[in-house]
Amino acid sequence: MAQMIVGGAPRSATNGAVTEIRNPANGEVVDTAPRGEAADVAEAVEAAARALPDWARTAPHRRAALLLRAAERIGEHAAELASLLTREQGKPLRESGLEIARFGDILRYYAGLADKLRGEYVPLAERDKYGLVVHQPIGVCAAIVPWNYPVHLMGSKIAPALVAGNTVVVKPASTTPLTSIRCVELFLEAGLPAGVLNVVTGPGGTVGEALLVHPAVRKIAFTGETATGKHVMEVAAREVKRVTLELGGSDPMIVCDDADLDAAAAAATVNRFWNAGQTCIAAKRLYVFETVADEFVGKLVGRVERLKVGDGLARDTRMGPLHTARQREEVEAMVADAVARGATVIAGGARPDGDEYARGNYYLPTLLEHVDPASRIAREECFGPALPIFRVPDLDAAIAGANDSPYGLGSSVWTRDLARARAAAARLEAGYTWINAVQLDHDELPFGGVKQSGYGKERGVEALAYYTESKSIVVAS
Ligand code: NAD
Repeated sequence: MAQMIVGGAPRSATNGAVTEIRNPANGEVVDTAPRGEAADVAEAVEAAARALPDWARTAPHRRAALLLRAAERIGEHAAELASLLTREQGKPLRESGLEIARFGDILRYYAGLADKLRGEYVPLAERDKYGLVVHQPIGVCAAIVPWNYPVHLMGSKIAPALVAGNTVVVKPASTTPLTSIRCVELFLEAGLPAGVLNVVTGPGGTVGEALLVHPAVRKIAFTGETATGKHVMEVAAREVKRVTLELGGSDPMIVCDDADLDAAAAAATVNRFWNAGQTCIAAKRLYVFETVADEFVGKLVGRVERLKVGDGLARDTRMGPLHTARQREEVEAMVADAVARGATVIAGGARPDGDEYARGNYYLPTLLEHVDPASRIAREECFGPALPIFRVPDLDAAIAGANDSPYGLGSSVWTRDLARARAAAARLEAGYTWINAVQLDHDELPFGGVKQSGYGKERGVEALAYYTESKSIVVAS
């Protein structure tokens, strides 16, 4: 039975309740995790508050050394962690391996920045005084993480928070707490002081909510659905807590008539079907120029039909099950809605046949054409393996369609014409635009959405600003 980690020690829920964590590939119980409540959150926040003064005073190079040691421990346990992640989340083992590797990478990236955080000397109009601007930790931070990238998205919050001198309480999604807990155990083994990093497990409505309202939590770093993010922002507003929100997306991918169609089809396959389509920056709408549409769609269908669907632990699996039965039902409902409005299914569109699929949440990778832009799959976020394809006459039409969304997370454009690519990047309403590149986020670049896809940035040097408060000091000389 997995345990929460509070003040450096494992613990069960105050009420003794547990949640079964089930493998999306076959429904089997992987382990149980404590089903915490507000009392557990209060203890974790108090532990983080007690640890704060010492951690905030710890020399930056020492904080960095601890993160580096933790990254080393994660690397030593990579195979065990990847297997656990696949069993609780469902993604193929090679994707889990990459996620664990990226967790180590993000720890190393921020460890490298720890001793580069500095302030400014500011000459003042009053000449017998000068100003200093220093950057201080915010305090206890809550890191609320979704189930699609439980480890990497925990990393993108805790790494900048810790190097900047904050202490953290992590709340994993209630269906994916196991790998996160194991990672935090490895932090403790690496020597992180008790209380600096805590994990409380349980439902969003109780554990998550208790974190939002706890007066000692000064900053909430949230990744999840836009609807939940709006609620987080409302609650945070009452106490003027700092928030960063990484929310839903419906990224457009544009394929122009001069694109490398083979490369674009390969990228579209990864962009949409990686993690069974459950990626915030998945390409969720595809716009292809009419003149090359038949050729491009033919290439894409060929690739998509070759994707091997199966248990993530099998070496040849390229797409695992959806994370939950509810998630699959949601995708099925969106495909049915599109079909009812006239869409044609050109690949997939059903659950796979066969005994090996009977107990898991499997759905075939799906492509749709002739989709009514008013369909749910075009208007909402489709968090699963189904891609609507729209044929457009030119770039203006592609960009108009792309921007006709409440979301603005990522976007990509495929063309050999640099001027066209730059124009598209300037006009696409999104926090990220990839030009002739797979929609893969980079630790070195700030990441975050515009419109209803979020508020604030994670990653890059920029993220540190979201984990510090600047303070002005005036010195009379
Ligand atoms: P979700 O909003 O249901 O849950 C996210 C987290 O919030 C979970 O830990 C959940 O327990 C918690 N939570 C739920 N209700 C809460 C409440 N009232 N108070 C506090 N916490 C609460 O999202 P999900 O289904 O786990 O994740 C999928 C969504 O996340 C998709 O919309 C996806 O696009 C988005 N996402 C965004 C990014 C990004 O960086 N922009 C990255 C990954 C996922």
